[in-house]
Amino acid sequence: MAKNLDLIIKGNIITVVNQKPRAEAIGIKGDKIVSVGTVKEVEADAGKTTRVLDLKGKAVLPGFIDSHAHPMGTGKNRLGVNLSLVKTVSEALDKIRQRVKKTPPGNLIFCPDYNRQSVAEKRYPSKKELDSISTKHPIWIQHYDGHFSQLNSMAISLLHLTAGMEGIRVDSKGELTGLIQDPASARPLSSGDNFIDKSEAMAALTLVAKEAVSVGITTLFAKEGLENAEFIMKNLKKIPVRIHPMLLCRTDLDKIISTTPPYDHICVATLTDGSIEARTAALYEPYADDPTTLGVLIYSDEKLYALIEKAHKAGFQISIHAESERAIDQVLWAYEKVLEKYPRKDHRHRIEHFEVVTPKQIKRVARLGVALAMQPMFITVCEGPNLDYYRSLLGDERVKRAHTYRWIMNEEILVSGGSDSPVTKMNPVGGIHALVNHPLKEQRIDVYEAIEIFTINGAKIGFEENIKGSIEPGKMADFVVLSDDPYRVPKERIGDIKVEMTIVGGKVVYRS
Ligand SMILES: [Zn+2]
Repeated sequence: MAKNLDLIIKGNIITVVNQKPRAEAIGIKGDKIVSVGTVKEVEADAGKTTRVLDLKGKAVLPGFIDSHAHPMGTGKNRLGVNLSLVKTVSEALDKIRQRVKKTPPGNLIFCPDYNRQSVAEKRYPSKKELDSISTKHPIWIQHYDGHFSQLNSMAISLLHLTAGMEGIRVDSKGELTGLIQDPASARPLSSGDNFIDKSEAMAALTLVAKEAVSVGITTLFAKEGLENAEFIMKNLKKIPVRIHPMLLCRTDLDKIISTTPPYDHICVATLTDGSIEARTAALYEPYADDPTTLGVLIYSDEKLYALIEKAHKAGFQISIHAESERAIDQVLWAYEKVLEKYPRKDHRHRIEHFEVVTPKQIKRVARLGVALAMQPMFITVCEGPNLDYYRSLLGDERVKRAHTYRWIMNEEILVSGGSDSPVTKMNPVGGIHALVNHPLKEQRIDVYEAIEIFTINGAKIGFEENIKGSIEPGKMADFVVLSDDPYRVPKERIGDIKVEMTIVGGKVVYRS
């Protein structure tokens, strides 16, 4: 029966379907795939109006899925004073001064992507230095991982920060230095959602959506507060990328439960530790370079369990940020308890990051059916060449238990890939490269496993494997076209592969 295809794509089709990994052509009607096979097979359903996109043998993969990102935070970063490339404190201060001159008093000067490690002085600009630029603008410098900030006096007072709060640094006289870390760093973050000017919100979202499709992402998971999530969902038709919401529920779980139907594909999310770089991820032994701290747990066991039980009973999928072993044990304990009390098959409750772990925890994740949302680009971007920065924080032994992809894949655990943008740039090709070229040789995984992490596994972690993640009839016509076939270039060159085109629902949304 002729299906009168709207579009035929010819190329080197990498389907991510085990039984039939390669094809020559895809037949598309509307926004869906209807046939996959040889050119001859697919052309059998061509009609007079069928368009043909001949990619001349270029590799076509299912569109990439980034399963953990913060689009509004990313957009806010892109609109802020970017400090990622400054080499000295005075260079940072100059950039901030220029923005202050152009900004009406009272408006936030947000300065993201600062990295203390990459400035000559290895420190943050001080409160005094920032106050010398402005006492009429709140100034907020944020460490690139989001878990550390430096504020000026006006930002401190707007956020009502006081010396007694956990995570607030004071000097020898007990005065606030403006440096804050977890759990206090959550305060500017949650207020930061409101800092962003509403007129800028659409500009921010559009920038991020364009950035996503330019790296081949066709579905972006958006971990956002309720207000931001509602804003994004209202404007879905105006952006080229599909969004999968994850609702942050630090304080408003009751509101989410009462206003959001528990679709199995909406996930509620919270955090239970911080980051390793900020020394707030929860370890069992102190940090190697700071024997005074084990990191922090944001929730007590009881509070975390109460939240998980409530969300689980309401039917939601749950996602908990837990970077390190002590936090991971807490989450696994709570997941195990809730699943014993209220069993649910195929819950796919998530742990985000899962960075410093024990082999025992990996087995427990497998047994409980917990899914992992991990960020391979952390290996390249945050942990230093050859994991050296991580080694300085964790020591030689613990660093061997960081980013344990091979151990995890051996247990057949569902792992999806994300960027945690703006922590790292959205970049699935870079993520695949990091996975197959892991600095710990024993943790490297195969190219096909790495591709699955950014395609079909991303679909599965969002309960969308019937409509996304592979090139099969019935699924969405979401594809990425690459300059080279990742199976046919040397492994160490995968990161050089370029995204040439991105297609969402049968429409070209990006061309290089
Ligand atoms: Zn995140």
